[in-house]
Amino acid sequence: MDDCPEPTPLFTFGVIADIQYADIDDGYNYSRTRRRYYRSSLQLLRNAQESWSESAVKPEFILQLGDIIDGFNKGRGASDRALDTVLRELSCGPVEVHHVWGNHEFYNFSRSALLRSKLNSTPTTDGSPSGGQAAGDIYAYHFSPFPGFTFVVLDAYDVSLLGREESSEEYQEALSLIRQYNNNEDLNCPPDTEGVLRRFTMFNGGLSKEQLDWLDSVLSSADEKQEKVTIVSHLPVHPYSTDPICLAWNYDEVLAIIRSHSSVVCFMAGHDHDGGYHQDKNTGVHHLTLEGVIETPPDDNAFGTVSVYENRMVLKGNGRIRDRVFVFPGRHSDADHGAK
Ligand SMILES: [Zn+2]
Repeated sequence: MDDCPEPTPLFTFGVIADIQYADIDDGYNYSRTRRRYYRSSLQLLRNAQESWSESAVKPEFILQLGDIIDGFNKGRGASDRALDTVLRELSCGPVEVHHVWGNHEFYNFSRSALLRSKLNSTPTTDGSPSGGQAAGDIYAYHFSPFPGFTFVVLDAYDVSLLGREESSEEYQEALSLIRQYNNNEDLNCPPDTEGVLRRFTMFNGGLSKEQLDWLDSVLSSADEKQEKVTIVSHLPVHPYSTDPICLAWNYDEVLAIIRSHSSVVCFMAGHDHDGGYHQDKNTGVHHLTLEGVIETPPDDNAFGTVSVYENRMVLKGNGRIRDRVFVFPGRHSDADHGAK
């Protein structure tokens, strides 16, 4: 058949999630329902890099959606070594990598250590932050790889028990929040209830008011410039795009902000290794949760390459990640309608 060839995209980028590398034998997840391939996750990353390097249109950048090394490294004193190993693999690739932070980053490193590490991919000019980042020690920023397109990296553990000193105000506030919903001695155990309330566990977190206000202002500016915005976060925010146990604590507040801006076209997350997808009924925004490398067998793959066009993004999945087309929603924000 002589199908029309795909037109040349404006640009492409790679996506990969939950590599969770550790130099240890295979194991299982908490409920012992999924095998985890700690060592071979490195080979799967290598497969992704080779594919991106050999592609006809080289990716502009890679989105690493968090949990790049496993928490087991910490107890073995192997955090730095494991991180060096995966970053060496990533640096063999053709392009820059934007790192998102997940719970396993905080099992291995403190927030201040992460900010000083190579996992801080905040864009800089002459060694100083170039201005697109949130304030204080929040790890959130935006960048524009192509005119008319903005990507926002969110910090889903800004409000969390992870990465904060127990003596800090932030830790105590996060503790009182989670205690409202979770009475378990082990706060990694979800509350004994149904649905979205199960998200109040220690392996999740949320976004501070400060970060939400920053996101709101970034999106307002993008609305004005009629840009297309893709938001990335370790934790999903749409209940239908994931097992609700993996949602950000204040997913509803993030969703409300996204719904009030016309510029957002896509939200990408990791954390739920089974992956998920849902197109928001209210807005047409695509919510993708990417399948995790760590629970992908050695003879399979879990990475994607996204080709971006004027009116859509096309995800070419590899291995257990399926192909998808994200047609950009043509919509107006509440502000455009003069509502609220
Ligand atoms: Zn995670």
